[in-house]
Amino acid sequence: ATIITDECINCGVCEPECPNAAIDDGTKGGIDFYYIDPELCTECVGFHGEEACQEVCPVDCCIPDPDRRESEQLLLERAQQIHPDQ
Ligand code: SF4
Ligand code: SF4
Repeated sequence: ATIITDECINCGVCEPECPNAAIDDGTKGGIDFYYIDPELCTECVGFHGEEACQEVCPVDCCIPDPDRRESEQLLLERAQQIHPDQ
């Protein structure tokens, strides 16, 4: 999964780019910067060649979670669970 670090400047441009609506402004998690739900992040597998949030983030604070490395297969299965019609 991708994570957002505390370097986030709350610009909000990443949120609408996520194909899984995995990103919120932090209110769900009670933090004061943007947050990615790891159960919804597929690293954009099945949608984009690159992580969409990483691509648009102006301060490069969307990074691979070093504590949650996931295989392409697992990410693809998650994408299929989130989008069963595709
Ligand atoms: Fe969403 Fe892709 Fe970013 Fe994960 S990597 S939060 S799926 S935009
Ligand atoms: Fe934060 Fe980057 Fe998303 Fe802007 S694009 S809200 S700086 S993570």
